[in-house]
Amino acid sequence: MSDGPSPKPELFDQVVNLCKRRGFVFQSAEIYGGFRSTYDYGPVGVLMLRNVKDAWWRTMVQRRHDVVGLDTAILGPPQIWEASGHLQNFTDPLVDCRECGQRFREDTLNDPGTCPNCGSTDSFTEARNFNLMFKTQAGPVTGSGADAYLRPETAQGMFVNYANVQTSTRKKPPFGIAQIGKSFRNEITPGNFVFRTREFEQMEMEYFVPPDEAAKWYEYWCNERLNWYIELGISPDLLRLRPHEDDELSHYSSSTSDIEFLFPWGWGELEGIANRGDYDLQQHAEHSGKALDFYDQANEVRYVPYVIEPAAGATRTMMAFLMAAYDTDTVNDDERTVLRLHPSIAPFTVAVLPLSKKPQLMEPAQKLFSELAEHFSTDFDETQAIGRRYRRQDEIGTPYCVTFDFDSLDDEAVTIRYRDTMEQVRIPITGVVQWLRDNL
Ligand code: ATP
Repeated sequence: MSDGPSPKPELFDQVVNLCKRRGFVFQSAEIYGGFRSTYDYGPVGVLMLRNVKDAWWRTMVQRRHDVVGLDTAILGPPQIWEASGHLQNFTDPLVDCRECGQRFREDTLNDPGTCPNCGSTDSFTEARNFNLMFKTQAGPVTGSGADAYLRPETAQGMFVNYANVQTSTRKKPPFGIAQIGKSFRNEITPGNFVFRTREFEQMEMEYFVPPDEAAKWYEYWCNERLNWYIELGISPDLLRLRPHEDDELSHYSSSTSDIEFLFPWGWGELEGIANRGDYDLQQHAEHSGKALDFYDQANEVRYVPYVIEPAAGATRTMMAFLMAAYDTDTVNDDERTVLRLHPSIAPFTVAVLPLSKKPQLMEPAQKLFSELAEHFSTDFDETQAIGRRYRRQDEIGTPYCVTFDFDSLDDEAVTIRYRDTMEQVRIPITGVVQWLRDNL
């Protein structure tokens, strides 16, 4: 058996540089020196991130009659986090170096006796539990009654709405509630670009099942979720499903597996799939005093559903897609950078490139742009020499470029160029939409 691919450390800087150069991701507040591991998504990044979220939503909600969507508040009262256990347990062990004052997460230090910043030995304080939730206050009056928290995960919004959703939709287990949205964690050591940030986006689904079916559905969702990344173009040898060891499991979870991707620094989590049992609904029922269960009329039993949760990170996943797609090849002795992104997550599906800025080409090219833009995410670029424009589209992963040239005025046809092979075909202008549909 082969050992599989090795991590490529050089890929990290290549992708980070490309992100800045082409407008995928910018450091937040960059003109002020940047702000604490926060990032802004640029003109092409925002398109790609939206595509990643749409691809997840299509698979997890749109194509399923057993899963419904939800969008819950980011701000929440302490009661939610008391019941969920986050106030008590959502902590990382924090140590300070007495010499240089830097702080670290003890469980991520390679050598817990040596400070990675200043090299001092035995300079760390005792580890103390640091809660990762951002606390704020809601309203103009301070005091404990005004305490509020930014959610550290989207999941609890789905648990506290279990009864609202179940009664309004009449869904019966097995059924799921899915949500995409921002989460906030005051990470001690954010880093590796957008892999670990304090503000990020999650894509989570809570699948409520009869308790005796939980093991079956857990297996099912592990497979479904792994296949999602493969179908969107990540090579299977860059992915693995890693079951948690017993000592890694949360106290309420009977089984958890992580889907991991081979990042430039090694394997890292993209998504966790957990069998959470009935822990969450039981906790919220107890703390709120509201019944959160299900009466199965056919079998005349009442039970609290078990939950299988596939929890993925949208921003982290976008980074994995970028890293998996990054490639270089040689064209006419020049190195070409190309993002071999799956068409459904590429920022643009197609770009219209008029060969010249002369009005006789610009006008019909703009008309073609308007027609394509009704159907596809379409770019329009008239700026530089055509070769440079092709390179730019290759670098942002646009699968097809449509070139409008002077011959187009006579033969009413355009040239379509495919990103991966650079092959070109001539197609009547009226057939471009259909051609793209057939070839995507
Ligand atoms: P990690 O072990 O990397 O801290 P986790 O196990 O705490 O992650 P979960 O709580 O399972 O993560 O969250 C689900 C997903 O949300 C993760 O798989 C990841 O993709 C994403 N995620 C979690 N924390 C962050 C973060 N700080 N920045 C970006 N994405 C994150």
